Amino acid sequence: MMGKLIDGKRVAKQAREAIAAKVAQRVSEGKRVPGLAVIIVGEDPASQVYVRNKERASKAAGFKSEVIRMDASVAQAELLAEIDRLNADPSIDGILVQLPLPRHLDENMVLARIEAAKDVDGFHTLNAGALFTGQTGTIACTPKGILRLLDVYEVPVAGKHAVVVGRSNIVGKPAAMLLLSRNATVTLCHSRTEDLALHTRMADILVVAVGSKHLITPEMIKPGAVVIDAGINRVDGVLYGDVDTEGAMDVVSLITPVPGGVGPMTIAMLLENTLEACERHG
Ligand code: NDP
Repeated sequence: MMGKLIDGKRVAKQAREAIAAKVAQRVSEGKRVPGLAVIIVGEDPASQVYVRNKERASKAAGFKSEVIRMDASVAQAELLAEIDRLNADPSIDGILVQLPLPRHLDENMVLARIEAAKDVDGFHTLNAGALFTGQTGTIACTPKGILRLLDVYEVPVAGKHAVVVGRSNIVGKPAAMLLLSRNATVTLCHSRTEDLALHTRMADILVVAVGSKHLITPEMIKPGAVVIDAGINRVDGVLYGDVDTEGAMDVVSLITPVPGGVGPMTIAMLLENTLEACERHG
């Protein structure tokens, strides 16, 4: 079997174009544009790249974009005060604090300070809780992007066995909850899972979000499975996923490449969450 690649770049571009068209429509109706504020603390090179990409995409969609750069030694109170200012700013619909934060800052407290209605990352406990209890809330961008790819490629989810590897709050756990809400039978694996391959081999849909180059080898994949690889591993300047994509092509029906699969969807879904917040705020 020769698998097909899922073109996340194309799907993300279409999503961004649809968002830009909606923003243009708002402008033509005399309404304000969505506003996205990104706070970055310190000089982490990967975070700098992510923030630049978010700023660029945000501007290209016609959003108001604000990037707040804070020194790595910033006091927690100063960071919280900045979040308070953005919470109170009616031109800002989405506030995002780029993670990871320097160790002296309390990540949970910082994320909790963002008003849930402006939490376009979907990390606030109110939004995570809404997903957990089947209520409407903002869904974290990467898992939302994963589900969008499955939908666009018309992958049946209900009744299928979905195996998610990785249980972080930002990818693995919400991805598992979303798949469950779509009536998949879900298995959630992690670093303490005994015999990972036993589980992955049973997956009709395999979602991997670990951060370990080529953790998933072709022998660990069920023939005909759909594989979504969220992993980003930079080794000697080259990006790799968590799945050995080249080897897996002979086994899968569909698979996301790295780069060009899940990654572009994350930013597109961030813009979508911000536009939706703007439409709610009026
Ligand atoms: P975390 O480090 O927060 O979580 C990694 C998870 O993988 C943990 O649950 C951990 O288990 C599990 N794990 C580690 N080793 C193994 C193993 N050998 N077998 C099974 N499970 C294992 O990472 P994130 O969820 O934040 O990110 C995961 C990957 O996705 C990274 O490569 C990251 O760069 C990428 N990513 C990509 C995004 C995108 O836009 N495409 C967005 C966000 C992340 P345990 O809980 O037991 O420690």
